[in-house]
Amino acid sequence: MNKADIIVIGGGIMGASTALGIIREGAGKVVMFDEQLPTQRLSRGNFGLTWFMCKGANNPVYARWSRMATTMWPEYAAKLKEESGYDVELEWNGGALHAIGDEQFQAYAESVANLKKVCSDDGLDYPARMVDREEFASMIPDMKLGDEVTGAMYSPEQGHVNPLTLLAALRGAFQNKGGTYFGGLSVSAIEPNGDGTITVKTAKGNYQCNKLVIAAGHGSSRLLGHLGSKLNIYPQRGQLIVTERVKRVLRFPILAVRQTMDGTFMIGLSTEDTAHDTQVTIEAMKSQASNAIKLFPELAKINWVRAWGAIRVMTPDGGPIYERLAEHKNIYSIAGHSAVTLAPVLTKQIASWILEKEEAPQISHFSNGRFNV
Ligand SMILES: Cc1cc2nc3c(=O)[nH]c(=O)nc-3n(C[C@H](O)[C@H](O)[C@H](O)COP(=O)(O)OP(=O)(O)OC[C@H]3O[C@@H](n4cnc5c(N)ncnc54)[C@H](O)[C@@H]3O)c2cc1C
Repeated sequence: MNKADIIVIGGGIMGASTALGIIREGAGKVVMFDEQLPTQRLSRGNFGLTWFMCKGANNPVYARWSRMATTMWPEYAAKLKEESGYDVELEWNGGALHAIGDEQFQAYAESVANLKKVCSDDGLDYPARMVDREEFASMIPDMKLGDEVTGAMYSPEQGHVNPLTLLAALRGAFQNKGGTYFGGLSVSAIEPNGDGTITVKTAKGNYQCNKLVIAAGHGSSRLLGHLGSKLNIYPQRGQLIVTERVKRVLRFPILAVRQTMDGTFMIGLSTEDTAHDTQVTIEAMKSQASNAIKLFPELAKINWVRAWGAIRVMTPDGGPIYERLAEHKNIYSIAGHSAVTLAPVLTKQIASWILEKEEAPQISHFSNGRFNV
């Protein structure tokens, strides 16, 4: 029997950022498995925002958790580069959400005021504000705004990364620090043993560990089902479109349009409850394209070359799930949306909680059981 101190199932952004934190804390032999089916493109197919604005409008703890995570990003990216050699291309020039029409502008203004209060109640700042059309236009001098844009919600303290290099950096740093990573290897079963250890079964043999972290995205439901636990997640498809490379003109992301460092525009903000179906649809493409062109009419003049769909791991209140199983105290389940934004807290606060070193007070708020009412 192969042995490990801690096993992490799932090498997406959620599992890999947590595994990195665990190995940084010097937790002994740490092994991470990732089955890598072609349909599992979530950590490669996302928009790459490191973003707190608008998150947690109905969930104040999540709003603060997201804000805290974004404050950690600049240092996090620098350390990842040191540990992995990968530059995750963090651009920290701010981010905006444009408003179409006066009614939307007003609704955004109310949302900013509400979330400012939510964060200040916890001693956190919420550096977002409304900018009118004229100011918004002056922030993007090289692109013309569409006629219906009335302004935007803006924060200077958020940004975006390259999700592909982020994933590579997390997995690389984990291995450089002594972690063992098995890509293309699926965990078929989990068996808690009477002596407190856990057996993890794979096609290449069984592993025994003292602690197990299940971070397998939608694959977690099956694994937890074997342990009698129901994970409160559901699939939500998002579709994205990319354009050809053009001269860089947009230096900070707008929620539905960003320009990557190599010049392509990424476009998309669709949300559909579609089960596990990653295909793209004409309807979503049309609606995303027309929204993007309403913001920046010039986008209609360049070639849009590729599109894909990916399936979010969504929870009923949008916040993440961090759960220590009641029946198996050495098994942890972590799941949810926005793992790019939350990667720094997964590496620090969540890894520390799993190792029972320190428990951030927010963590208990994110239990799986909060939905069992
Ligand atoms: C269109 C879109 C845009 C998004 N934009 C953003 C954004 O801008 N910012 C942001 O923060 N988030 C964004 N997200 C969310 C983000 O992509 C996810 O939160 C992130 O990828 C984390 O995924 P994960 O690790 O939980 O799941 P996954 O990436 O699915 O990883 C789970 C891994 O578990 C493995 N696995 C499953 N079962 C097993 C098993 N039995 N044995 C071994 N391995 C197994 C799979 O191979 C998989 O690699 C977006 C998502 C979508 C769809």
